[in-house]
Amino acid sequence: MAVLSLENVTYRYKNAQRAAVSGISCEFEEGKVYAVVGASGSGKSTFLSLLAGLDLPTEGTIRFQGDSLAELNLDRYRRESISMIFQVFHLFPLLTVMENVCFPMELCGITPKDARPRAAKLLEAVGIREEQMKRFPSKLSGGERQRVAIARSLASNAKIILGDEPTGNLDGENTQNIMDILCELAHKKGYCVILVTHDMEVAEMADVSFRMKDGNFVS
Ligand code: ADP
Ligand code: ADP
Repeated sequence: MAVLSLENVTYRYKNAQRAAVSGISCEFEEGKVYAVVGASGSGKSTFLSLLAGLDLPTEGTIRFQGDSLAELNLDRYRRESISMIFQVFHLFPLLTVMENVCFPMELCGITPKDARPRAAKLLEAVGIREEQMKRFPSKLSGGERQRVAIARSLASNAKIILGDEPTGNLDGENTQNIMDILCELAHKKGYCVILVTHDMEVAEMADVSFRMKDGNFVS
């Protein structure tokens, strides 16, 4: 079953001449990696904010497990149902890798004693070695930092991962590594991964890709 489904979704900024997202209908399922690829200005960021519940469509409906986002508690949806990864990694420079992953769990009330083994497991799953967990992010490469950011985003129980150009700062090899990790999370653990990107190579590594142009999906 689709975890997210969109029906005729349109978003028009105030005073904008044309809609930034225009009449999109599609479905996203668990267990797959999706890429939405398009040039700058095609509407990708707007589309992602709608999926993230940061804005509601001006027309049409987005459903999460069958319920319209317009009727859900959006704070709770954002907190519990989705996690986000970005082009810039947003790691805390003064916290170690381990502490970066533990921190959001502790904010949710998990004790440090329970958070640490869970964080270690998540870090291990994205290929961070034990000795790297004690280091500060500045000692890691860009690809490794993005892995830490992914581990941190997995600290919640959200099954939907939204990525805004998550490989935008990485070279080809690291892009491949991050895509392998995201594919494994989808295929083996059932995450629904949705990435927006202008990188055609990323789109080719996804299970399903949509091309966006002027706010629409074109074949
Ligand atoms: P992309 O992420 O693909 O670059 P965006 O979603 O940022 O595309 O933008 C889609 C269209 O919406 C563009 O024409 C852009 O200029 C317009 N747009 C984006 N944000 C705003 C805003 N806050 N107010 C008005 N227009 C906007
Ligand atoms: P991205 O790099 O993700 O594509 P943009 O460069 O399109 O983002 O937009 C950067 C910021 O400027 C966003 O907050 C977006 O909402 C805003 N923005 C983009 N286009 C416009 C516009 N035409 N009018 C007002 N704000 C805009």
